[in-house]
Amino acid sequence: MSGNQLQMHTQGGVSWYSVPLFEKAGGVTAAFSMRKGGVSEGKLSSLNLGFAKPEPRENVQENYRRFLKPLGLDAEKIVITVQKHTDIILKDAHLHAGLGWDIPSEIVADAEMTDQKDCVLVKLTADCVPVLLYAPDVHAIAAIHDGWAGTVKRLAQKTAESMVEQYGADPSKMLAAIGPSIGPCCFEVQQDVADIFLAEFDPANTVRVSDIKWHIDLWKCNVDQLMDAGLRPENIAVGSICTRCSCEDMFFSYRRDGVGTGSLAAVISLD
Ligand SMILES: [Zn+2]
Repeated sequence: MSGNQLQMHTQGGVSWYSVPLFEKAGGVTAAFSMRKGGVSEGKLSSLNLGFAKPEPRENVQENYRRFLKPLGLDAEKIVITVQKHTDIILKDAHLHAGLGWDIPSEIVADAEMTDQKDCVLVKLTADCVPVLLYAPDVHAIAAIHDGWAGTVKRLAQKTAESMVEQYGADPSKMLAAIGPSIGPCCFEVQQDVADIFLAEFDPANTVRVSDIKWHIDLWKCNVDQLMDAGLRPENIAVGSICTRCSCEDMFFSYRRDGVGTGSLAAVISLD
């Protein structure tokens, strides 16, 4: 899990990262969005994929079309949930294809999963960690929105375990990808949060940088909990791409740009 294990692409002015580990297995399309190539303006410039932001719904719909078309995915089949840093998993997400497209979604969930085609699982982030799962043996997928709270709630681990329980997936064959998000370079917290991580995860993932500040490696905390769910380390692709200290025009970053910044999307769909 060293270095960048995602692959960047650009087409028609829109850029995204794909997951070579998933492509090698076949049967799935997955991507992490970037910032350029959309129609949104100001702080949302330009590929904002969050419908909850203050801009016309048509703008966001157009951004989804631009992002998903080169991937061969149908924008109107997206499944959007209300993300509240819970550990709620929306199962049978295919039953909700189109959720959030025409009118705001009202289903609260921070993870979603399915074993059916014709739906595009979506999780929105702007520093939080997006995790995608693919179980090629049973042809099932999941998408997870993992902030520090979701990481502490072990949402990635719970979702992987749900795929084992619901679909009979073999965790030793399950693949995972951790997308662009705030890195250990930039995720700075105070003692209250540091204490939680020191108690819950490998203490090496939480590094003290001053009397009152700690840096946390959320990527490693998620890798560790996926391994606790039975995944093999070589089956976990880590982008190691920090949204906050990367070039400003590459990603939206809540910690860098503050309230009102746009949303990146992690998407996955069965072929
Ligand atoms: Zn950084």
